Amino acid sequence: MFLKYKRKGDHLKVLNFLQNRVKLVSEPTPFRNLNNLSRENESSIYIKEDDVTGICLGGNKVRKLEYLIYDAIQKGADTVITTGGIQSNHARLTTAVARKYGLKSELVLKYGEERSQFRQNGNLLLNNLMDANIHLVTDEFEIQNKIQELETSLKKYGNIPYKIPLGGSNEIGTLGYIRAGKELGEQLEYKDIKNTAVILPVGSGGTMAGLLIAKWIWNLNFKVIGISVTRNSTVMSETVEAIINETLDFLDIKEDFREQNLPKPTIYDDYIGPGYGKTDQQTIESIKLIAKTEGVILDPVYTGKAMTGLLDLTENKIVSNDSIIFLHTGGVPAIFAYQDQL
Ligand SMILES: *Cc1c(COP(=O)(O)O)cnc(C)c1O
Repeated sequence: MFLKYKRKGDHLKVLNFLQNRVKLVSEPTPFRNLNNLSRENESSIYIKEDDVTGICLGGNKVRKLEYLIYDAIQKGADTVITTGGIQSNHARLTTAVARKYGLKSELVLKYGEERSQFRQNGNLLLNNLMDANIHLVTDEFEIQNKIQELETSLKKYGNIPYKIPLGGSNEIGTLGYIRAGKELGEQLEYKDIKNTAVILPVGSGGTMAGLLIAKWIWNLNFKVIGISVTRNSTVMSETVEAIINETLDFLDIKEDFREQNLPKPTIYDDYIGPGYGKTDQQTIESIKLIAKTEGVILDPVYTGKAMTGLLDLTENKIVSNDSIIFLHTGGVPAIFAYQDQL
């Protein structure tokens, strides 16, 4: 692709950083039309399948982990420590990628619900199969204490731990979605798709931040619309902006140029339902609709809610681009923990 970068120096800098990874994702991930859904919804809907990245049932976290695990290996680490909810996809994929490169995995998982399936099924089952060390906590405040405690005791026994933040959303993990944004830009150019919008779920924010940086560096031909699955749109936008800024600092892209040009993230918070990780009738209906029209499986925590957003925003013409791209970020293993509600 001919990349239409604004500043050659920044473009080359980014390309250089994008090389610092382990290669795991089968690139490019599939991009195709959802014909049946398009007909039903009277619009043109495509899907970018980042649920089929390869390794351990796939998902968006694999792209971030290509960079995070590379960094861990560079720093001589033998163990990774990360955190998430008890059904965290990020924790599952962190364990998988760590295992693949010979590292151990320590997981601090927050558990609130009294639903026994959460403890036995879905991502937790997979983490157990991969022999992750699982530490359950019930309180937000316990998380940092537990991580600290693990770090100290691992070091005491001569291990070298590497901490990965919630969702892998720091300046290193975000590189994975700068790379993905460029990849999508190339697919759109190849298929000659213009005036389009990418709709995706937003949790810890790194995925959206990466796409926006890619769009900005290479003038890519898509809008980015986030659907929050956790916090209100103001907080989510600030989170995404903070990750963008921290990543651009890391990439050494100059402040002056950024301030005038960076777009504000567009995030809707109308589809969170009863809260993070909790599902509702809307989400279940979206999951069933896409399953029966397209044979595509979505999850109750992220992609099901993003799809509810996509359907609502297009039907009500709030988003009126010529076409829409649904970014499938993965999460499918979690559905097995929601069996009773589905
Ligand atoms: C983590 C996750 C997201 C959210 O990505 P962020 O980068 O954390 O915003 C979306 N979908 C699935 C399936 C995830 O596991």
